[in-house]
Amino acid sequence: MKKDLKSFTRKALVKEMASLNLPPYRANQIFQWIHKGCNDFDEMTNLSKSMRDLLSRDYTLTALEQVKKQISQDGTEKYLFQLPDGEMIETVLMRYKHGNSICLSTQVGCAMGCQFCASGMEGLVRNLSAGEMLDQILSISRSIADRISHVVLMGSGEPLQNLEEVVKLLNIINDEEGLHISLRHVTVSTCGLLPQIYQLAEYKLPINLAISLHAASDDIRQNMMPIARQYSIDELLKACDSYVEMTNRRITYEYALVPGVNDYPEEIQKLAQKLKGKLCHVNLIPVNPVDGVFPAHHRQEGYQHIVRILEKQGISATIRRELGADIDASCGQLKRRSKEEL
Ligand code: SAH
Repeated sequence: MKKDLKSFTRKALVKEMASLNLPPYRANQIFQWIHKGCNDFDEMTNLSKSMRDLLSRDYTLTALEQVKKQISQDGTEKYLFQLPDGEMIETVLMRYKHGNSICLSTQVGCAMGCQFCASGMEGLVRNLSAGEMLDQILSISRSIADRISHVVLMGSGEPLQNLEEVVKLLNIINDEEGLHISLRHVTVSTCGLLPQIYQLAEYKLPINLAISLHAASDDIRQNMMPIARQYSIDELLKACDSYVEMTNRRITYEYALVPGVNDYPEEIQKLAQKLKGKLCHVNLIPVNPVDGVFPAHHRQEGYQHIVRILEKQGISATIRRELGADIDASCGQLKRRSKEEL
């Protein structure tokens, strides 16, 4: 099978091209073309014809096909992409005053099976490669003719289950010869895979880590998220403390508020006790409707008292602004799609 050059960090590309007897500046040129959105070796006009032929013989450039684009009333855009093997994923673009932010998918489907999330309803199909993740950004950037400044790994999939490719992606998008996106503008969200949180800490990347906590009691969390049966909340928080120690970066705890399940004052008090004194922020997300679950829509009014409970213990907390709900582009609403739906 041909190797996808979009999945190469620049360093790896230099090494790979050296094996073809091409000097490092050639690898740099190829890397720059890729990040200008080039999908065809023949467009790399500063390479000789023989070089281009050599490349197209052994390599490919993954290009996702935009199958559908929906635009929300609030300006949020949702893209349906077809991957080279025919699988389809969704990606969301949010336009803010401070720049364009992309919520990208890291896997086709998801193995985590959280009870309130659409992404895992059909299980995991496969990991995405770094190139397939990168091309979600390149393709959208090209189609809006504008730069992407922020990236959140919160689409479908569990990023830490695809850690190697995710770290590669972070290296690639941060590269000054490429998109040069600051890692401080990148957020990786995880449902809490402990070994991988320790592993990620070792890289000491200045990214933002978000943890899907969603409860302060193990029994409640276990009912919401299968992963909670594997690791207790205390073990998870211990891993997070060690992450903060290693990286000096504040952690965000995400808390999807599900009426009657985890949104009552006692549970929030318990949360406040557990998080008190930590370098953290709490992001409250009024749960979004997904097929057949939580059909009624719960608005963010009425949750200010929860913010106050947390703030009283010195914990900063905000309620996440809901974007794109009218096109099923909000948190937990992205999923694998099939051709039959089109
Ligand atoms: N697998 C990763 C990232 C994807 S989800 C993770 O679990 O963190 C991004 C966030 O949306 C997570 O916090 C997830 O728990 C949350 N989420 C999932 N379904 C939701 C829903 N229906 N309403 C609100 N948030 C939801």
